[in-house]
Amino acid sequence: MRISIPPAVLALCTALRERGHEAVLVGGCIRDALIARPVRDWDIATSAPVGDVLACFRRAVAMGASARHGTALVPTAAGPVDITTFRGPDLASDLARRDFTVNALAFDVVSGELIDPHGGERDLAELRLRAVGRAADRFAEDPLRALRAARLLAELGLVPDAEIEAAMHASAPALLGLAAERVRTEFLRALLGPHATAAFVLLRHSGIEATFAPGTRDDAAAVIGALPAELALRLAGWLRGAARTRVLARLRVGRPLARRVDRVLALHPLDAHWDGSEAGVRKVRRRAGDEDTLAQLLLLREAECIADGNGWATGRIAALRGGLEASPSSVFGPGDLALRGDDVMAALGAGPGPHVGRALRHLVDCVVAEPGANTPERLRELLATWSPTRNP
Ligand code: ATP
Ligand code: MG
Repeated sequence: MRISIPPAVLALCTALRERGHEAVLVGGCIRDALIARPVRDWDIATSAPVGDVLACFRRAVAMGASARHGTALVPTAAGPVDITTFRGPDLASDLARRDFTVNALAFDVVSGELIDPHGGERDLAELRLRAVGRAADRFAEDPLRALRAARLLAELGLVPDAEIEAAMHASAPALLGLAAERVRTEFLRALLGPHATAAFVLLRHSGIEATFAPGTRDDAAAVIGALPAELALRLAGWLRGAARTRVLARLRVGRPLARRVDRVLALHPLDAHWDGSEAGVRKVRRRAGDEDTLAQLLLLREAECIADGNGWATGRIAALRGGLEASPSSVFGPGDLALRGDDVMAALGAGPGPHVGRALRHLVDCVVAEPGANTPERLRELLATWSPTRNP
């Protein structure tokens, strides 16, 4: 078999072998190379104890978190390479401890031989995801494997067999006990994969989605798949209807990303207050606040239309997009009014308070609907007929 291996990675294998150790490439890199997918990271499995690996490569560092598993990380021109001592007495037992047959692959760089004791190459060709051994036992050892199954479906279109589906169901509650970072990585990767819809259907059927994000809408999986593969957008599509703040905190999603999701969902659906008019289009734009958020809100509504096949909504959203594209993008806000807050208080004969902001927003709406109205005189007239209690 021929796969193209970066020279820096080959050199690590050769150096270990020259010292009398076994050293092979293993796991996801071989899986990805077999399907001509770009390799994310190269992993080496070796018979050498981690101390020997560290002695062999000056730049190697022992990996803190996985020191007990004996992993050294070596920076190379092809990115950092993990060198892990065989788990168990030899390569065969190392491979038997891996999660799925498609990941239990090794490649001997000298002989060019694929080492595939569990039929991973065939499963890969037939797009089948099978556990190494009994899925129920393997998922009980490490429930994260249930989420990795969904992630591999999302990214590679590998369809889990019935045993995996059943084991996912049984693992759902135990996933809550895992480190949030491990869970987050797999969830977010599943969300961005080209087969995310299938993955989220599976996550729902297995009960895993409900353990992390109860309350999501029926169309969540379809909406995710209809959205561009952008994280904030797909998270928003997924979490409509759910207690998003709690879900995002539980997954330890970073603050900037969580804020973006929150902003989009707080304003969703974009057309909620749109009366179909041109002036209304300007109000919609102003409500979104910035063009980025506006674009995301529009994509979210369009994804819902695709997912739900609602012809009436589809026409309405298409009209709104047309209106937005035809109207100028500069956002008119309270700062652009011909009256300031002080003027408003004077005109209303009132002191400071929330009614001042409400009055200013009302005036902005008036000017958006009637562009000639932005003069002090006309704005004062408009205020004379405005009541802070009648107008929320
Ligand atoms: P990718 O490279 O796309 O991230 P991957 O399958 O390589 O996918 P890694 O987290 O890099 O995922 O893991 C490398 C290899 O380690 C896997 O291919 C698999 O053989 C093994 N592995 C990873 N996580 C587990 C696990 N939870 N249980 C058993 N084996 C695992
Ligand atoms: Mg990997």
